[in-house]
Amino acid sequence: MRTIRPSAGLANVKYEIRGDLARRAHEMERRGYDIIPLNIGNPGVFGFRTPETMRLAMIENLKSSEAYSHQKGIFPAREAVVMQQQSRGVRGVSADEVFMGNGVSELIDLVLRALLSTDDEVLVPMPNYPLWTAAVNLNRGRAVHYPCHAENGFEPDPKEIEALITSRTRAIVVINPNNPTGAVYSHATLEAIARIAERHHLVVFSDEIYDQIVYDDAKFVPMATLVHGTLCATMSGLSKVYRACGYRVGWVSFSGDVDSAREYLSALDKLSSLRLCSNVPGQWAVQTALGGYQSIQELVRPGGRLYESRQAILDGVAKSKYLQVHAPRGAIYAFIGVKDGVLPGFDDQRFAMDLLEHKHVLLAPGTSFNTPYKTHFRITNLPRPEVLADVFRRMEELLDSYAVG
Ligand code: PLP
Repeated sequence: MRTIRPSAGLANVKYEIRGDLARRAHEMERRGYDIIPLNIGNPGVFGFRTPETMRLAMIENLKSSEAYSHQKGIFPAREAVVMQQQSRGVRGVSADEVFMGNGVSELIDLVLRALLSTDDEVLVPMPNYPLWTAAVNLNRGRAVHYPCHAENGFEPDPKEIEALITSRTRAIVVINPNNPTGAVYSHATLEAIARIAERHHLVVFSDEIYDQIVYDDAKFVPMATLVHGTLCATMSGLSKVYRACGYRVGWVSFSGDVDSAREYLSALDKLSSLRLCSNVPGQWAVQTALGGYQSIQELVRPGGRLYESRQAILDGVAKSKYLQVHAPRGAIYAFIGVKDGVLPGFDDQRFAMDLLEHKHVLLAPGTSFNTPYKTHFRITNLPRPEVLADVFRRMEELLDSYAVG
């Protein structure tokens, strides 16, 4: 039989968060089971709403959204990003160097595609939000993972990063606040990474989509305030802080040594023009989002939903005989591991499948984030605290059955 084969370029591209487990969960839902979806950071499915003012801004401008926009995006949206960067102390950003995209996801692909030639290397954190690894591989590059160890609160060690640099290294990816670990990197760590990037003339891709989601005394430091002698690409969007995943709006703004990157930016402009423009109605919500009341602040402080649900996760882990976690300081996830030695042979993929089949909870195994170890899994703190308390009861029952059997 003749078969239609997919591109060989996809052979080493993996994105398991929406893979076999999620497909099995859909099947079970079709058969009438209620599945608790803790595998994806999608605020809308847990009752979070996009701020009303953003919806109104989009509706008001629907009529002006009928045509393609400039490939980089509408000017008010790009200018709003410039203003936000300026207000954070980032120097030298102009609307010319801001590109809007269909979510940060599309831009991750575009910024890498514009940069990489075959076998160019990109330093990517491990564990990592797997789209970065997938997009490097998809664009003919090689993702080289720098470890973020649990013992250091999942902060990377700049010395370990520098040791991985070769003549083929082109860029370094920083995800801060981090998905999946919830780490919020210190000023000192970011500063050291900035200096390494400058020394080796690497592009810094700083994925800051969770920039305002920090808890307790954690302080978010924008990478672009620290990078001057090389190109810094700051990426963010409406999906998380503004709870508007479905609007599909993200942006990248360039700062630092922009002059050395003129050819690269022209290449990115060309790629952007190949897809004409990004979703225009969504872009109209950006100015209102960034300039308006930042309601996310209410959710991350004590009494707020994200804060209290994160607390429910910490409580659940504290009560567990088997689990441990480094308390997330930012973002909307916890990267939970089994305690050393309590469950020999623990396998994250098997645990995730058993939990889905027997307890109807869907989570993301740690190996989906490119870890070599199989001891971790990621859940999101988007559900209500009482739902998470119930999830921990179900997990503990399953883990008890592993312990006896
Ligand atoms: N970057 C990180 C670190 C993420 O966690 C996500 C989504 O979960 C994205 C980028 C993609 O976001 P979007 O394409 O919705 O803007």
